[in-house]
Amino acid sequence: MNHAFISQLKVVVLAGGVGGAKLADGFAQLLPAANLAVIVNTGDDFQHLGLTICPDLDTVIYTLAGLANPETGWGRAGESWRTMAEVGRLAGPTWFRLGDLDLATHLVRSHLLAAGATLTEATHHLCRHLGLAAAVLPMSNQPAPTLVETGEGVLSFQTWFVERQWQPAVQGIYLPEDVRATPQVLWALEKADLIAIAPSNPFVSINPILNVYPIRAMITDLPQLVIAVSPIIGGKAVKGPAAKMMAELGMEVTPAAVANVYGELIDAFVYDEQDAGSLDNPELATLTTNILMQSPADRRRLAAQILDFSMELIDQ
Ligand code: GDP
Ligand code: CA
Repeated sequence: MNHAFISQLKVVVLAGGVGGAKLADGFAQLLPAANLAVIVNTGDDFQHLGLTICPDLDTVIYTLAGLANPETGWGRAGESWRTMAEVGRLAGPTWFRLGDLDLATHLVRSHLLAAGATLTEATHHLCRHLGLAAAVLPMSNQPAPTLVETGEGVLSFQTWFVERQWQPAVQGIYLPEDVRATPQVLWALEKADLIAIAPSNPFVSINPILNVYPIRAMITDLPQLVIAVSPIIGGKAVKGPAAKMMAELGMEVTPAAVANVYGELIDAFVYDEQDAGSLDNPELATLTTNILMQSPADRRRLAAQILDFSMELIDQ
């Protein structure tokens, strides 16, 4: 493959937290910053201790900045917990853990928002001061909370995910109507050569982005190549509730079922070599490879394979 040419591809990644951040980091290792934009789910965002918390944005920012905690998949490496301990002593809420370094992010973000900045502007400010050049774009500047319908009633996303440790069985997901994408998101999608749907949770990370007007319609109508990567490997999610949710929603826990969730939106699908042959859809171009990203080198290799494969498809 012609690598000089590949690095000129303009790539937009749709991302949730962990799975999204890892693939975005793979692309960031290969592409000039101006050719990468990451559109991030904000359906998990919430207000806590008076602060605006944006879990997926922070996972993407910390990962791209090389500051992420590799053990937890959220928060900062080398974190300390003095403030949380004191919040506990003062009988404040401690179910959502905020480290001392992480708190600085939330303080500055909340400060900027209170002073009238949009979430896009506040995110840009944080990225700039953490040395990130790639565009990290919240899907919307409006609140767009994801709600989870369970046997115990409708729960806010963080109540279900963190407080209840994603144990209540999922019966459905409610996504808000009338949320609009930002101009920066629309611009990035228009300029892209390739739209990559990261191996994020299809229901609570990717669908919330697609649900923001007019992202789904734009991706459907635009001629750009759309390629998705499976978050499911060998009948399991690498991390988090994706597999459990698929089963509870009555789906098979397979890459094919993930591809079905995206349906006609995608042109190509990447899934793991251990599932090779399990996807039989003549409409879809497929690539099977090792899609588990355990190290930064794995991220880079997978991103390079996706770029090579995409170039082949674009050239056809
Ligand atoms: P969250 O907000 O942190 O839950 O983030 P995401 O939705 O982006 O990521 C969760 C999904 O990423 C899970 O469904 C995982 O199976 C998937 N995932 C995490 N790491 C990997 C990986 O290395 N490879 C693949 N293919 N999927 C991954
Ligand atoms: Ca998330």
